[in-house]
Amino acid sequence: MQRKFLPVTLVLVVLLAMLAVLGLKNAADVSPTIGIAESKEVYLTFDDGPSTVVTNRILDTLKEEGVKATFFIVSDRVEGREKTLKRIAEEGHTVGVHSASHDYAKIYASEKTLLADVEKCAAVIRKQTGIVPKVYRFPGGGAHKQYTKLLTERGYTVVSWNAVCGDEEIRGADSQRLYEETVKTSGGKKSVVLLLHDSANHKQTAEALPRIIAYYKTNGYTFKQF
Ligand SMILES: [Zn+2]
Repeated sequence: MQRKFLPVTLVLVVLLAMLAVLGLKNAADVSPTIGIAESKEVYLTFDDGPSTVVTNRILDTLKEEGVKATFFIVSDRVEGREKTLKRIAEEGHTVGVHSASHDYAKIYASEKTLLADVEKCAAVIRKQTGIVPKVYRFPGGGAHKQYTKLLTERGYTVVSWNAVCGDEEIRGADSQRLYEETVKTSGGKKSVVLLLHDSANHKQTAEALPRIIAYYKTNGYTFKQF
């Protein structure tokens, strides 16, 4: 493009942007059920942390992007990483219970062992952050109807997921692959709960996160936390 056209082009771009904003505003005013008013939302959820390097890198990215997320904690991994757990809470993210041990055989042996595992994890979260956790995610996922009832009675909201980045499902996936899996499994969903992991071996997840966030931003999603 020639130099002398640049100012004219800039004015046109600004005018078009203003018109677009006004147009969208009117569309939203007139017809709240279509177009822009049909809101899309995404919950970024991180399981199995805290870890030192990966969790902090993820927190840096979330801060830069102005995005809040939900972290499901494994409390047996907190010792020596208390600062990281506190940082999650201080920066306004939701801290949820995932497990104390993340040992399926122990956790799912009985109602008693499940509740003991949940309470142990919740106690660590309370002690380190002052937060009384209200959300829970089953280690390994699954429906667990009876346990869900038990936890709901105790005031927990049990949170599953409906999209994955693939950091546990695809062996050796690099950040590009994780990005692609996120797009593939999120596509077409109005409300996405994305499963990611922030334990120590998930550097590629931290690497992929800026692009994952950009994808949702570009596609008009609002970021939510539980
Ligand atoms: Zn887990």
